[in-house]
Amino acid sequence: MTMPILKTTSELEALDRANRIVHAVLDEMALRIRPGVSTAELDQVAEGMIRDAGGVPAFLGYHGFPATLCTSVNDVVIHGIPSTSQIVQEGDIIGVDCGVFLEGYCGDSARTFTVGEASAAATDLLEVTRASLDRAIDAVQVGRRLSDIGHAVQTHVESHGFSVVRDFVGHGIGSSMHEDPQVANYGRPGRGLRLEAGIVLAIEPMVNAGKRGVKTDPDGWTARTKDGSLSAHFEFSVALTEDGPKILGLDPGDRRSLGYNADGQCAVPIRLAAASQVAGQASSAQPALVTG
Ligand code: MG
Ligand code: MG
Repeated sequence: MTMPILKTTSELEALDRANRIVHAVLDEMALRIRPGVSTAELDQVAEGMIRDAGGVPAFLGYHGFPATLCTSVNDVVIHGIPSTSQIVQEGDIIGVDCGVFLEGYCGDSARTFTVGEASAAATDLLEVTRASLDRAIDAVQVGRRLSDIGHAVQTHVESHGFSVVRDFVGHGIGSSMHEDPQVANYGRPGRGLRLEAGIVLAIEPMVNAGKRGVKTDPDGWTARTKDGSLSAHFEFSVALTEDGPKILGLDPGDRRSLGYNADGQCAVPIRLAAASQVAGQASSAQPALVTG
C-alpha cells in the first residue's frame, strides 16, 4: 500500500493559501460565465488573477496541457481545453477546474456551473454531484478507511440514477499536484488506507447523467461521455485535522462550500430540498470572504 505524505501545520496553511486563490478564481468564473463568453476568455482572466496573486497556474504545461483552466462543457467530463472558438450557450453546463502553485504548494478545486437557465435534468445532475462531494467529505475522519470516501460518492450518485466515472480518480495533494493515494469515487467501504490527521486529499466526483463510460478526443485530453450524456465535476482539496475534515481555501460555514459565489449568488442551483440536506453547514453560514 502506498502511503500518503502527512502534512505539518505550516504545510496545511500554505495549501490553504493556494486554495484561496483557486476559490477566488472560481468565484470570478461564476460571475463571468454567461451565454456568449468563450472558454479562452475565462482562461485568460484566470491566469491573470493567479499571477497577480503571486501564484503559478498548476495545469499550464503539465504533461503539455496548454491552458490554465480545464473547461469542460456539457458531455465533457474533465480536461476540456479552453478555446476562442468555444462559446458557451444558454442552457449549457461548464465544469471549471483550477490548480495553483503558491509557495511550493498546490491548490486544486473544481465546480460545475450552469450557463443562464439550466434544464431540470442538468440541475439535478449538478446537485447530486455536489451533494456526493459533501458525503465524501463527511467520510474523511480519523480512523475511517480510504474506500469509505468513494463508497459515499457512489452510494449517493447511484441512488439518484446517475453513474460514477471510474476512469479518473481524485488524489493526494501537497508539494506535488498528484500524490498518493488515489481516491476512487466508487468502491466497497472499509478498505484501504486508514485515514489519519495530516492527510490532504483532492476529492473530485465526476458524475455522468447516463452511463459511466468515457472516451478521449484526438487532442489527447478532452474526456467526454461515450453516450453523449451530460457530466458534472466538483472538487475540493480536503485536509483531515484532529478536529475533522477541513475544506482548504474556505472557512467553516463559507457559502461557497455550498455552491454560492462570493457575492452571495448561487453558482450551483441548489433548490430548497437539496439545501436542507446540508442545513448543518448552512445554519452556521457567515458572510463569504472576498479573497484574491
Ligand atoms: Mg482539479
Ligand atoms: Mg484534482
